[in-house]
Parts: sequence; structure tokens; C-alpha cells
Amino acid sequence: MDLPVDAWKSYVFQKWSLLPKSIQDAISTADTLRDLFLHSSSLLQPEDEMFLKSLSGGYLVGKDPSAPPFYREEGNKKFQKKDYTGATVLYSKGISHARPHTADISLCYANRSAALFYLDEYEMCLKDITRAQMHGYPESLQPKVTLRKVECLVTLGRLQEAGQTIRHLESSFAAKPTLAAAQFQILQRNLCRLKMKVKERENLTATFPEVVTKVFEDMDLREENEQIASASSSVGLRVDPLRGRYLIATKDILPGELLVKEDAFVSVLNPGERPPLHHGLESKWDTRVTNGDLYCHRCLKHTLAMVPCDGCSYAKYCSHECMQQAWDLYHNIECPLGGLLLALGVFCHIALRSTLLARFEDAGKVLKKLCGEISNKDMCSPESENLIQALSSDVGGESEKNGTGVKTPVPGCDINGKYENNYNAVFHLLPHTENHSPEYKFLCAVSVSALCKQLEAADSSKPEAAVPPVLCSELNIWGVAMLKQMLQLQCNAQAITTIQQTALSGSKENNVTDSRLVRLATGIFPVVSLLNHSCSPNTSMSFMSTVATIRASEKIGKGQEILHCYGPHHSRMGVADRQQKLRSQYFFDCGCPACQKEKHRAAVGPRWEAFCCNRCGAVLQGGDVLSCGSTSCTESVSREHLISRLQDLQQRVGSARNLLSNGQLEQAIQLLLAYRHDAENFLSAEHSMVGEMEDALAQAYAALGDWQKSATHLQKSLRVVEVQHGPASVEMGHELFKLAQLFFNGFAMAEALHTVQRAEKVLMVHYGPCSDEIQELQKMKSCLMDSPPFSLGPSV
Ligand SMILES: [Zn+2]
Ligand SMILES: [Zn+2]
Ligand SMILES: [Zn+2]
Ligand SMILES: [Zn+2]
Repeated sequence: MDLPVDAWKSYVFQKWSLLPKSIQDAISTADTLRDLFLHSSSLLQPEDEMFLKSLSGGYLVGKDPSAPPFYREEGNKKFQKKDYTGATVLYSKGISHARPHTADISLCYANRSAALFYLDEYEMCLKDITRAQMHGYPESLQPKVTLRKVECLVTLGRLQEAGQTIRHLESSFAAKPTLAAAQFQILQRNLCRLKMKVKERENLTATFPEVVTKVFEDMDLREENEQIASASSSVGLRVDPLRGRYLIATKDILPGELLVKEDAFVSVLNPGERPPLHHGLESKWDTRVTNGDLYCHRCLKHTLAMVPCDGCSYAKYCSHECMQQAWDLYHNIECPLGGLLLALGVFCHIALRSTLLARFEDAGKVLKKLCGEISNKDMCSPESENLIQALSSDVGGESEKNGTGVKTPVPGCDINGKYENNYNAVFHLLPHTENHSPEYKFLCAVSVSALCKQLEAADSSKPEAAVPPVLCSELNIWGVAMLKQMLQLQCNAQAITTIQQTALSGSKENNVTDSRLVRLATGIFPVVSLLNHSCSPNTSMSFMSTVATIRASEKIGKGQEILHCYGPHHSRMGVADRQQKLRSQYFFDCGCPACQKEKHRAAVGPRWEAFCCNRCGAVLQGGDVLSCGSTSCTESVSREHLISRLQDLQQRVGSARNLLSNGQLEQAIQLLLAYRHDAENFLSAEHSMVGEMEDALAQAYAALGDWQKSATHLQKSLRVVEVQHGPASVEMGHELFKLAQLFFNGFAMAEALHTVQRAEKVLMVHYGPCSDEIQELQKMKSCLMDSPPFSLGPSV
């Protein structure tokens, strides 16, 4: 996903292996990124471009009039089965493939408005009706959507507008009675009903309370840092030769304190794994749903009512505003390159988009900033120097004025020493050129130069200059900059995640939700990138739209380093795997306290991976042969045997989970209980697999509506999570949240209140008071507080 598609990767690697040794050497030992780029670029042949073109062509990213009728039909099938969400997504797919101002697009919008109506999404429904009409919805069908519009307006309490719309509709019938008599009668009856509804609502509105608005306190940094944009004043920027740039606490920091709140400089939505096309199937149109169908391609907001780009079927947005902004900032250039960008992967796409964004930072200013650094040779890598010189040669006098005198203390800061979320900062993230393999560098260079060639071609084919002058006249220079970025991304790309809630139980009212962290996009956050890694960090990170927030997850004393986990967390991965991952992806050996501690007791391993003795239940210890830890027991067993037993169990639990998701609850429970019993013979009670089974059992009982049993199993799963991730971890917060919902739905008031408070305490530290989770918990709490004290039913 991040890298180019496999077919292109292996093509380029093959090309590399066939290069004469002398050329390979010249590229491997290129002194500068500029040489690397120009040399690789000169090797790109027309047939290579043709091959890449054929790969890009496999992505259906254009408009195609045959798609909308297909998707509308499929959507209608879902609609009839009352799967309104499923229908909405399929109508959206139809909309994105339809050309603007056609019957196709307007019909899809109108159908989607109906599905949204049944999902109680009245605002979105209204917008879709307007869109349908804007794109030329057929006159004869107007009354149908207009009635829907009135229903929405009434439900939303916008009674004046509702009244106006009714009157308008009535007068248009009177003017041209195009409807058959029977239809007209139905319409009349509906209008009558709606008029009465308006009346009723008018009498009621006085008693309706004002909508509670979200609390926005603590959403922003209390005091912004003077040196580092987007950081709080409790944070300081330091640099030393060993650690590079890093952040420290300049005062004592308490758990939950907001330290960084930064909007991505650039972000690109992850398209999700796209399966190759299977020709010969009944339809070439894919009905599967990916994140690209559910999240705005600019702001990453979740929405069921996407608005597509007018030019392609790939880019979709939450609103017309997002679409326009994306178009003005970058999509006007990216739109014709859709398939190519998908084939070249997210990293290449980010590199292009950053460059397109850099244009808006007043090119002169960017160059000045870059030139400012020439004076400080020690801080400046040879590559960037070279590029800066190349860049500055085009602005002539400008650089000379600024190239003298002022020194910048930390790379990436401006001449006043301020570190900002801008291209200058992005440009100074380390590319680790010396650590990447020659093939990898060649792959990046060739991919970027293929992209540059396409940009050039797009430019010359369009007289109105799609590529703005700054880009096209210096395409090679920006090509080097893009290459540098691509190389930076392996270490500096930040996954933007969101918590996806899935309902455990079917019914809409008594929802218990399971939360899963999913990767939505990849972005660059220059300030977040200043943080060093620890496998047991003292901060916690979360995202809202494209904004990252970092909060202290524990007390951080003045002068201590602020640390963040790059992925391999000590509660999810063993020390050997973490070390390996950090070395291969980030090129360093982790010496964090967790790693040092674990290296010393590697023989025992963590409790959530421990096997236990068949005979006495004590924890087993050792390498290839494990022996019982209890002195009075002589049991021993081979690790291989235990591992195959565990794998076997994993597989069975997997199939029990499948039964569960197919609604075969009783069967799933029977199996899970048996497996659970079996596991007691060889897994410790805190083994993560045991936790997984307990969690599945909790889900199954919740789906049956047996809250008590569900809660009992969830509490056991909670214990495993607590051992593995710690009592104050975000994972623990989510489990407590689930448990609170269970108690709440089961009317176990005392337990519910207690658990809500625990969940709130934990999640507040990680997400802050404005998160959806905290808001939901507070709603539950106030509901519980209002109830008569603990008299409403059974306790677990
Ligand atoms: Zn948006
Ligand atoms: Zn487009
Ligand atoms: Zn570590
Ligand atoms: Zn034993």
C-alpha cells in the first residue's frame, strides 16, 4: 500500500539486477540524491513507462456510464432488504462513477436520499435531494423527493420551510397537472398528513429543549509554545548528536495533559488492499466497501453521503467544500493521474502532494528558508545542500541576501529559531539515504521519475498549463525533492488511525460496541516527528480528522524526554521482534527501559504468552524444552508441541468466531466453552488467547441478550487485557467502555456507574474530554445518576 504495487516493484528490481555492475555501482555510491535521481531517471525507458501505464490502467478511476445503473440496481436490492447503510454505500459508488449533470447521477442521489432518510440522517438527506435536483432530476419524479424533503424539514423542526415547500408543491400541481389521477390522490393525502404534522410540531416546539452543544474546553492547547508550533508550553526542543532532535518536558507534566496538537502537513487516504481485477466475472464493478468509500479523501471525516470529484471516480469527499479545497490545493494536478498514483503507492503520492502544497508557501519564502541553511554547513546534509543550491540558482539575487549572517540552531527551524508545520520542516526530516538498500533507492528514484514524466506529458498536452510554472520549469529539482521525501517516509510516515465501532448485538437500541483501531491514512506531522521512540512510551496519541493529539499518559517530570511509540509496543510484541522491526524500518537499536528489562529475563517471557503445567498449573519455563516452575513437580514438555497445540486452538477459535458472525450463537458458545476448558490445561489464565475466547463468549452472550453472562466473561477478558496492556492503557479503557455498556443495558446500575467512572478515568487521559467516547460515557453517567438509586433490577 505504501510502496508501489508488487508487479511494478518486481519489474524494477528485475531491471536493477540486469544493469551492468558499473552502473549499479555508480548508482549505489552516488554522492548526492541529485545524482541518484538523474542517473536512475536516465535509465527509464519508454517500454518501462508503457508497462507502468498498463498497470495504472487496471484501476477503474474514470467516469463510466455503465457503472451507475449497475450500482443503483445493487443498492435497490439492499434497500428492499432494509439494509439502508449498505444501500447508501452502493448508491455512492454509482454517484462517483456517473458524469455530472446526467440522469444517472441525479437518480443515484435521489435514491441515496431515501436510504439516508430511513437512517434518520435528515440533514444529509436534504442535501442529497438538493444535489439530485441540481443535476437535473426528472420533472415527473419531483413530487416524490419533495415530499421526502418536507418530512425531513418537519422532523428537524424547520417548520416554516416545510410550509413553504408544501405550498410551492401545491401551486406547481395546479399550474401543470401532469400526474395521473390515482397518483395525484396519494400525493394529496400525503400533503394533508404532512400539513397536520407541521401543525402538531408547531404546538410542541415551545417545549423542546435546546440542542446540547459539545463542550469545547481543553480542545486547544492552553498556552502555545513560542518555539514549536502546535506544541504546548510545557515542551522544549533539544538537539544532540546522538539522539538528534527530541522533545523534553520543561515543567512537570500530569497524565492527560495535552502536549501536541498538530494538523498533518500532508495526508493521503490509504486505498486499502485492492484485489486485482477478475475478468469474466458477472460484473467488473466491485461492490465491496473500502475506507475510500466511507472517509473523506481530504479531511478523513466519516460520512455516508460522499460527493465525488467531477473528473474521476476515485476521489470522494464529505462535502462540496472539501472537494473544492482539495481541487485547488492538489487534486487539479492529481485527478488525471489517479491510476498511476494508485500503482505507485501512498509514499509516492505523499511526495507529490507535499510538493504541490509547497507551492503555496510562497516559493520565494521556501527558497529563502532553504538557502538560510547553507550558511550552517554542519547542520546541512550534502544532499540538501545540493538541492538548495539547485533551487537557489533559479532565484538569483534572493539567496545572496539571505545566505549570510544568521545561523539557525536546529535544522528545520526558520531563521528566528521557530519550528513550524511547513514544507521547510518536512524537508529537513532525515531521509537515511545511507541505510536504504540500492534496489530500494533505485525503485524510489525510477518511480518518482516516471511520475515526473507523466506530469510533464500532462503539462504539454494541455495548453492551459495544468502543471503550474513553478513545478514544470523545475521538474527535475522537485523530482529530487520528491525522492528525498519518499526516502524519508519509511521512518517519518505517521499512520492516521481511527476507532471503528462495530455493534456486538444486533438491536439498535441496546448497542454494545466493539472498537477496533483501523489505519485510515498516512501523513506527515513535522512536530510529532520530533519525538523519539520508546516501547513503553509516556504519551498516547489519537486522531480527530487529520489532527494528531499527543497527551501525557503518565507523569513526566521536568527535564525528562517525551517519548512516543513508533508501533512496536512492549505489550503487543516480544523484545526480539521489536528490536528487529525497529532496526529494519527505523535503523536503530532500541535501548528503552522496557527493552533492557526484557532482554534480561527473556527466558520467562511475558505472562500473556506463558504456557502452564498440565499437572499442577504452574508456569512453565525454559527454551526448547519447558519445565515446570514448581519445585515439587517434574513435568517437562517440548515448546514445539505446545506451539502446535496453540496454533490448533487458534484455528478452532477462528472458526467459532465465524459461526458467531453468521449468527449461529448457541453453537459458537458450545464450542468456545469447550475450547476454553481445553486451554486451561496448557495456557496460563492470563494468556492473550484465553482473553480472546472470553471476549468472544461475551460477544455471543451479548448478542443473545444475556447481559449477566456476557459481563462475567468480559470481566475475565478484562483481566487479561489489564495484565498485557496495563490498567491505565487505552486498550483497558475500551474494554471498560464495553463492560459499562453491558451493565448499563442489563440495568445493573451500581456496577454500570462504577465501570463508567473507571472507563472515563482511563480514556480521559488518552483522548481528552471532547472525544466521542467520553461524551458517550458522560451521557450514560447522567442517565444513571437520574435513575432511582439501584432499584431497577438484577445485579451481576
Ligand atoms: Zn471532508
Ligand atoms: Zn478527480
Ligand atoms: Zn524498546
Ligand atoms: Zn507442574
